[in-house]
Amino acid sequence: MPYKVIEDSPADFRERLFLPEVIRGVGIIAKQFWRNFFLQRDPNPDILLRKTPTVTIQYPEEKQPYPPGYRGLHRLVPREDGKPRCVACYMCATVCPAQCIYIEADEVEGDPIEKYPKRFVIDELRCVVCGFCVEACPKDAIRMDTGEHAPPTYTREGQLLDEKALLRGAPVSYQYDPWLRRGATAVDPKKLEEMRQRAKPFPAGATDELSQTPGFSVRQLAAEAKGRGA
Ligand code: SF4
Ligand code: SF4
Repeated sequence: MPYKVIEDSPADFRERLFLPEVIRGVGIIAKQFWRNFFLQRDPNPDILLRKTPTVTIQYPEEKQPYPPGYRGLHRLVPREDGKPRCVACYMCATVCPAQCIYIEADEVEGDPIEKYPKRFVIDELRCVVCGFCVEACPKDAIRMDTGEHAPPTYTREGQLLDEKALLRGAPVSYQYDPWLRRGATAVDPKKLEEMRQRAKPFPAGATDELSQTPGFSVRQLAAEAKGRGA
């Protein structure tokens, strides 16, 4: 979906007088106020389909659907066996411009060449929601596809999400996951075979964003922007 750039037209005489525009703005607010005050809201939870002219959204009971490219709260992607896909490589923490990812690595028991994050903490208040961590991750182990905001908290510490809070959502496996190919000693052989069967090939043209938000492609948007420039 191409983004439209709408140029601002120069202010006309009425806008330059300023006062008519103020009165118009007050009129719009007043109209909406009385609509919200007197008219019923459609009880349909799918607010996109609401028929009434009332536009106020009763957040958090009602939520507006976000566009497909929306970057939500992080999650650590689990494997089929419930462990994090993360191999504690520190790429996300290194690339993070806000320096808000803290990782402590440890060895997987019985597998000295495999690491996992013993501690993985993200400070959601410092995060600038840039998505670089998702882009940098070589294991598709961190995503921002939850569609949620950072939850409200009364304390600063409440915004520090650790590995237990972050590890959630649908598990993901790919054919070339090293723990599937060489046979992890920590995983039950039967379970390992099940995981191998369920593993999908990583789509050849996929970026992290394409794999997490179907229909949204940074490459496609970049190509469109280049086309507009030409
Ligand atoms: S989204 Fe950006 S700022 Fe937030 S944790 Fe990831 S890299 Fe850091
Ligand atoms: S989330 Fe990805 S980039 Fe970050 S440490 Fe884990 S594997 Fe590396």
